Formats: sequence, structure tokens, C-alpha cells
Amino acid sequence: MAVRPTIARFPGDPREQEACGVPWGVTLTPFAAKDENGIPPVYGSGGELLPRCENCWAYYNTYCEQDQWSWDCSLCGTTNGLSSESIARYALPDSCPENMSSFIDLELPLEESDEMQARPVYVAAVDLTCKILFNSLYSLKTLLQLERNLQDFVLSLIRRVLELTKSALLAALEALGPGSLFGLATFSHKIGLYDVQGPIPVVKNVFIPPDSVGNLTMELEDVDTCKDRIASALETLKPTTSWERTTAAGQGVDGVLLGGRGFGVAMEALLKYLGSEYGNTYALARVFAFLSGPPDYGLGQLDTRRYGEQYASKGEDADRALLPEQTPFYKDLAAVAVQAGVCVDIFAVTNEYTDLASLKFLSIESGGSLFLYSNTDDSTLPQDMYRMLSRPYAFNCVLRVRTSTEFKLGHSYGHFFPDPEYENVQHIICCDSFATYAYDFDFANDVGFSRHSREHPTLQIAFQYTEVVPLDEPSVSGSSSSKRAKYSLRRRLRIRTLQFETARNINEIYDSVDPEVVLSILVHEVILSSLENGVREGRILLHEWLVNLTAQYNDAFKIAEYTRGSLTTSHFDVAFTQCPQLQPLPRLVFALLRNPLLRFHEEGVHPDYRIYLQCLFSALEPSSLTRAVYPLLASYDTPDKQAFPRHSLSRAALITSGSPIFFLDAFTTLIVFYSSTADAALPFPPPQDCLLRTTINKLKQERIITPKLIFIRGGQDDATVFENYLIEEQDVEGSGFTSVMGFVSFLDEVNRDVVEYLSKSNGDLRK
Ligand SMILES: [Zn+2]
Repeated sequence: MAVRPTIARFPGDPREQEACGVPWGVTLTPFAAKDENGIPPVYGSGGELLPRCENCWAYYNTYCEQDQWSWDCSLCGTTNGLSSESIARYALPDSCPENMSSFIDLELPLEESDEMQARPVYVAAVDLTCKILFNSLYSLKTLLQLERNLQDFVLSLIRRVLELTKSALLAALEALGPGSLFGLATFSHKIGLYDVQGPIPVVKNVFIPPDSVGNLTMELEDVDTCKDRIASALETLKPTTSWERTTAAGQGVDGVLLGGRGFGVAMEALLKYLGSEYGNTYALARVFAFLSGPPDYGLGQLDTRRYGEQYASKGEDADRALLPEQTPFYKDLAAVAVQAGVCVDIFAVTNEYTDLASLKFLSIESGGSLFLYSNTDDSTLPQDMYRMLSRPYAFNCVLRVRTSTEFKLGHSYGHFFPDPEYENVQHIICCDSFATYAYDFDFANDVGFSRHSREHPTLQIAFQYTEVVPLDEPSVSGSSSSKRAKYSLRRRLRIRTLQFETARNINEIYDSVDPEVVLSILVHEVILSSLENGVREGRILLHEWLVNLTAQYNDAFKIAEYTRGSLTTSHFDVAFTQCPQLQPLPRLVFALLRNPLLRFHEEGVHPDYRIYLQCLFSALEPSSLTRAVYPLLASYDTPDKQAFPRHSLSRAALITSGSPIFFLDAFTTLIVFYSSTADAALPFPPPQDCLLRTTINKLKQERIITPKLIFIRGGQDDATVFENYLIEEQDVEGSGFTSVMGFVSFLDEVNRDVVEYLSKSNGDLRK
């Protein structure tokens, strides 16, 4: 469990919080194996015996004052009695994890029913829809003539998507441990259910009524005994052609051509089946939904015409219209999934507008991931699938964050499902060791923290989760030994209590800033703002934040001068020269404004790609997010010798460095770029055993998604993809490369806005 605050020293009171201009919050990665300093928790058992405060329900921890019969809560100060059991336990020093560390992970007893159903179940839902794309200007006659050719073309596209889906599922079968159950379903205008227990896979088809949901029963297969048969069932997957649909769905020609992807109904039926209604209670159920276009048939169909309409009307904020969901259907379906304990991962393999803005809820609220692959050629889908399933994960998680009484939680950000009843309790159906959440804080009242008392601002995170453990790893309680299951479940309670210092003045706040965590909170804020008010508003919010911070900092460091109440300074320290901790922020803000997350629709950012980035960025831990926003550019003399570990992202930096090889890590993409003047004797691409390759392989291993690797030879290959990352000479508003230097003129603009801001508000700031 890693916890990183935006500022290590908290503001003393609301006035100071307001005056510093830095967001006050933390990022939290609950299932990370270690804390932010690389220290693991102290493991133990008896989580149910841990004493809790009778006033605030916080757990007993190392920061609590304890005497023989009682303990004082480190969060609210209440004195609680100790039970005779606890007195006996705590009589021996260092006998209990909770007295040894403020970071503990304790086993909880399992319910009887949990032990019986220790098998995780995975269901793949594969899109077989063969949709004919057509332009409404074609007449029906032309269409019918074209259909043969179109159909061949579309079929070949769909086959490629299907091939990719099959490879991904074969990778999944490899990653899934023995003991898991696997089911295969397909959807188009009908739902297909596979039974692979016999020698030949049998598929049962259920036609989807356009306006209702039927009942499903499916056969779930044991992964270890049926792997080959599941694989051969995958081989039989083929697209559903429109000819078949004409007869089967009994529709007119127009209807057929408009498609038939009954995704909503298929998902609803699957969730219903996996839920308790059928008496199935699995340890964990996970659905992999493969989509090759927007749902356009039956319940949950999406109208994709809004994309075309917006594209045509330039001038207004197109994203404001395209970012919200067009129907609550998938949000409601997510609630059903959460209720049933089913996690849904969506893999969209398409370059067609699919309206992920409406679909995303199904995955992010159920703890699943949203993947978008806009082309089948260089798709990393099978690798992503394999890695996702080979990582350890926690499920059925409940997360609760508590604070000491002087402050409270403000916003909570991340992919969780809020408890309908209890405040600050969050449900996470499934999460891996990367999944990160963020919170910001507010003062509970005007008083703030007492500067003289011994009390420190305190934060306690309780994370209850279940994990699947292979049986060769002995369970602490040893309770599952009687049953010959290959897996057992463990319910655990992980608790972390943190104490912080308060800053004595504003300079101490600035010196304790963690710019990566500040960026995380900012990214959450701008995503929220763009969803509510459009991308333009999100950009304005971010720019104003930087102007405000710069103004506050210049005021705190007495750089702003006033004569008879009027501002006389015209040049400010926009580079934060007196505070190293703040120095990365202007570059990060500039880079975020140049990121497709916040670039305008008119610059060609596809709305589905923007949604994909929003979902990806809002779950990344701060260092990964920083890499994604401001890529790392390093240079090499040879593939085996690094020249400089870091350059600014500018063409000028490239030219002045004189190095022949550059390596750019943009988190989702890795680029090796050989300059056009590189010695022809240098091997291209870099050989497998060199330092550069080792670096690349290590990065690929450590990352939550498989980055795309690109090799470019300057002067021979098209270098656009690399050059686009050299943002510092680009205009922040996206009008291309300008004669004025991009980042430099951005700072000038910030300076101008600071002058304006301080001239307007100089009276207020100086109080
Ligand atoms: Zn308490």
C-alpha cells in the first residue's frame, strides 16, 4: 500500500491552505505489495481481533497511547477500554503486528460459503458482428450492388479482429491458473454459448429480442482439463454475415445493413447468469468483453450519429457534447455487475466511433479496465491480456479512509464504486497492484491544526480484500486442507496509519511538494472539469491554477513589489528558481495542455481515444502518470552507452546534444530514434543484448500495459510520431509550430497573467 501526499508538510489552517495554491491530498495504491519507501507490511492473523475505537471506528495502531487497560485513539483522541483478550495479547512486547508496524496485513476468518466456491470464473464475450459501414448518401440500389464487395472487405477486417481476439484468449488461457473456470460466449444479433466438454465444441444460439433479456445458462469449463478443447472452440469463431441475419432476425434490408451488435443485452444476460439469481456464487467472476464497434441492436444500443454531427460543427466545444454518456444503461449495468461481484474488462478493437463515453462505466465502476486498440496490425492486446491475468489481484475489496478530526476528505477519485449507504466507503470489485486512487482534503472547521500540541495530522486507510492463493502456498489458518481444491481464498485486512507534520510557514509547504502527486490531483480535476464543462473549461482551469500558484509563490518570496498599493513588478519568477520542488510544475502543466487528453477536437483527437486516456490516466500511480504526460527523453552514444539520461522535449535539445541515438519513453509508446547524422556503422535496430534493449525490456516488464515499441531512422523513415513528442517548440493552443518558441512564450503568458492577477487582487493577497 503506497501513499504519497502532494505536500509532506500539511498547511496549518484554512488560510494557509488557501494561500499556498497547492492541492492538498494524497494518492493511494492499496494493493501495492510495499509502501512508497519499498517497505512491506508486517503480516499476521487475527484481523478480527484488532481493537477499534468506539467513537470513530479507527483501528488500533502504533500511534495510539496505550496503558495497561486502555488505549487512546490516534485519530479522534477517545479513550477506549481493552478487552481481556487484547490485554493478554499485548502483554508480550512485539507479539502482534499492530504493535510492530503502522503498516500491517492481517488474515480474517472466511465465511463457510466462501470456502466452498473457491474457484474464479472467467467468461469471454466475443463480438461476431459483421457490420457493413455505409454512407447514407448511397442509394439502396447502389448499396445492394456494393454489398458483395463491401461484405468481403468488412469480413476480412472482422476476421483480423477475430484473429487478434483468439490470440488474446489463448494468451489468457496460458495465464489463468489451473482451477479456474472458463466460459465462451459470442454476440451479434444472437448470443452463442459454447459447450466444449464433448469432443466437438457445441454452440447453442439464443436470438436476442430487440427489447428484452432472455435467460441464459452456460457451461463453464475447467481450464486445466479443457484447455485444448477451449482452444479448438476458439478456432470455430467466425463472423456472422448479414445474409444470415436477414433470415434469422427476420428484418428488412435496411435493418440488416444498420448492423446487429446486441452488446447491451448480451452483457445484461451474462451478468444475470453470473449473479446469485442462478445460485452461482463464485470467488470472483470476470468478463472479458471484446467489441469491434458500437452496440447498435437491442437494449443499450448507442446512437453514433452524434459524432458526425459534432465533427461537422466546428467552433463550439465539440467535446462538451461528446464526453458525457448518452444513456444511463451501462452505468446501471455496472451497478448490477458490482452487486453480482462481476468485474468487466472491455477490449475495444476498432477505429470506428464506439462511444466509449457511454460504455466506460461498465468497466471502470466494476474494477475492470478499458482498452482501446485502433488498429489490428500493431496491437498489444494478447500481451496486455496475458499480463493482466498473470498479475496478482485483490477482489471484493472495501476501502475506507479515515482522518484525524481537524481535517476531512474532500473529493475521492478513481475507479471504485461508492457505498450507497456509508460515506467514504468504496467498493472495488477487482484491483491489481497498480490501481491508484486519489483524495483531496479540507479542514473540518476554521481552527486548523494546533501548532503546539503533540498531535499530528493522522490518516488511516483500511483495505479489506480477498485473494486467490494456490494451495501449495500454505494458508496461515490451514482451514482449506480438507478439500482437494487447487486454490483457496484468503480474506485479509490491510491497515496503514500515517502521521504528518504541519508546516510552520508557506515556504515549508513549498519545500515539501511532490510535483508528481500534484500532477495526479490536477489530472483528476481537469478530467472532472472536462466531463462536466468541456475540454476548453478543463484547459482554462489548469492554466488558472498555474497562474494562481505562481502569483502566491512570488508573493510568498516577496518578489512582487507594490508602491502605494499598486503593483510595480512586471517580471516574475515563473520558473520557481527559489524552490526546486515547484520547478517541474510549469513544464508538466504545459505538457498536459499539449496532451491528447486536453487537446481540442479540432486537432484531431478522437473522442474514444480521449475517453480511453481519461480512464487510463485516472488509475495510474503518480510516477507513471508523470511519464505519460512528460515523456522521458534520453540519448545514447552507442546502443551500449548512454550519453545523457534526460533532455527537455525540444528539437533544440536534440540538435545541441549531438548524440546519434535517442530513446523516448512516453509510457504507452517507446521510440528509438537514430538521428539522420548517425554513423552508418551503428547497428539498426539496436541488437538484442545491448544496454538500450535491456532498458526497453525492463520497462516493458514493469508496466501495467504493454508499450508499443517503434524504431525510426531519421532521414529515411517518417519521423512524425517522434517529432510530435517534441512539444516544447509547439504552440500550447495547438496552432502548430510557431516562430515564437512554444514553452518560452507559454511562460511569458503566465507572467502576463500573474501581473494581471496580482494587480487585481493585490489588496487581498497582502492581508
Ligand atoms: Zn477514534
